[in-house]
Parts: sequence; structure tokens; C-alpha cells
Amino acid sequence: MFRIMPTVLVLGILIGGIVSAAQAQDAPKRKIVQISGDLYRFQNNFHYSVFLVTSEGVIATDPINADAARWLKTEIADRFGKRIRYVIYSHDHADHIAGGEVFAVDGAIVVAHEKAKRTIIGENRPTVVPQITFKKRMTLELGGKTVELSYLGKNHSDNMIVMRFPEERTLFAVDFIPVKSVAFKDFPDSYLPEWIESLARVERMDFDILAPGHGALGTKADVTAFREYMTDLTDQVRAQARMGKSLEETKAAVDLSKYSDWGQFEAWSPLNIEGAYQRIQLNRRGN
Ligand SMILES: [Zn+2]
Repeated sequence: MFRIMPTVLVLGILIGGIVSAAQAQDAPKRKIVQISGDLYRFQNNFHYSVFLVTSEGVIATDPINADAARWLKTEIADRFGKRIRYVIYSHDHADHIAGGEVFAVDGAIVVAHEKAKRTIIGENRPTVVPQITFKKRMTLELGGKTVELSYLGKNHSDNMIVMRFPEERTLFAVDFIPVKSVAFKDFPDSYLPEWIESLARVERMDFDILAPGHGALGTKADVTAFREYMTDLTDQVRAQARMGKSLEETKAAVDLSKYSDWGQFEAWSPLNIEGAYQRIQLNRRGN
């Protein structure tokens, strides 16, 4: 009798855990928060985008996925009584830009970098192919409001753009400027050292608020801090590689402890070292 009790209790706890995890999956965390003026931030679980409300309609950005986009479209219609006129993709990765058809079906025009269009078609991304593309810079105007789109070089992908809302003094930048966090894993689909150059270009832009694609809002100081982290990481890894050190020796020697209070430090900083080491070795071999 007494032996059975704990088992039943443990089972109860396990089943309870499974149910609440399933419920959490059924009900994604979705939220709209005002950033500044008519610029808002849209959250879908761990992904974020922004949208600008104007008298002529709404400029939306990454749709995130079809369900999220359907929710956002309804919320925008209910809260603001406006139609989505433009959708701007930050880069080609499906976890940010799936579901563009939800906006396009109502006539929204989809905008992205020209290389993003190529990849969206080539990799058959689950979204709408952009109708308007650009190479370096583009300014979109709607209802007397403006968003400036800029390509700043290769970083987390080869087709990443940033979106500057000058009146709201805000920059929307996805996946290549984590705020108070180390970089994602081992730099998949990424370009080093070009990434650091594009961060320096962001620092020269005129804005105060940084709206990232993941995590909390930041400021320009977070861009500088992350550029310094990336420089520190790659300088240290390069020095080890030049001395002919192995990956394991490099991992043991590189000291990133001054960033230990940043998000994902324990899990991802060893992978950051690994990714940087592999890319630096490839560059050294002239590839
Ligand atoms: Zn990405």
C-alpha cells in the first residue's frame, strides 16, 4: 500500500506536466505592445516583429507563421480598423517569414532583399515570394510615414535587412544583434567576419531603440556591446588558430567570462567558439 502511493503521486505529477505542456502548445503567447508613437511590437512565443500604423493602412514586417499572421491581421483590424498594405521580410529564414500569404491575399505588397527572394524561391520557403526587391536601400512611404530599409552586408544570412523608423527612432533588426545574449549556437548560415562589419554599420545609424526578432527591446549600446563580444570572440579564436591549436585547445584557452551574465552563455558560448573556429580555419585555407 505504502509502496504504491509514491508511484501514483509521481504518475499524477508526470501527467499533470504533460497536460500543461500540451496546453501551452495550444495557446501560443501572443501580444501587441506599443514601442513608440504608431509603431508596435508583435510577439508570437519567442519571435517578434513590428508594425507601423498610418492613416492609409499598416506596414507589417515578419509574419512569423500563418497562425500568428492570422491572429495579427484580426487584431490590427479590430484595434485600428486598418488594412495591411505592405509586408517586409527581414531575411529568408522560415521561422520569421512563413505565412506571408495571410497578408498578401488581401492585397498587401511583399518587400524583401533581392537575395532573399532568390532563396525563398530556391529553398521553397512556406511563404509568399516578394513582389518588390532592392539591393542596397529603399524607403517606403505610406500615409505620410516612413520606413527605411537597408542592406548592411552579410551577417546571420546573406540577405538580412534592417528597418529604421525615423520618427519613432527605432531600428528593427532580426537574429544578428542579440540583446544581452551570446550568438545563436555555432553560427549556422552565417558569415564571419562580415557580420562584425554590418554591426559597425548599424552603430553609425540614427536610432535609439533596438527592436530585435527575439527577446527584450534594447538600445544602440547593446549593438556596441554585441560588436565588442563578436570582435573579442573572433580575435581570441583567430590567435589560437594561428598558433596551430586544436578546437579543444582553443575552447579551453578562449576566455569569454566577462559575458557570463548574458543570455544563453552556458549553452551557446562554447558553440560560438566552435563556429568561429571552423569559419576562421576555412578562411585560412582560402575558401
Ligand atoms: Zn534567421
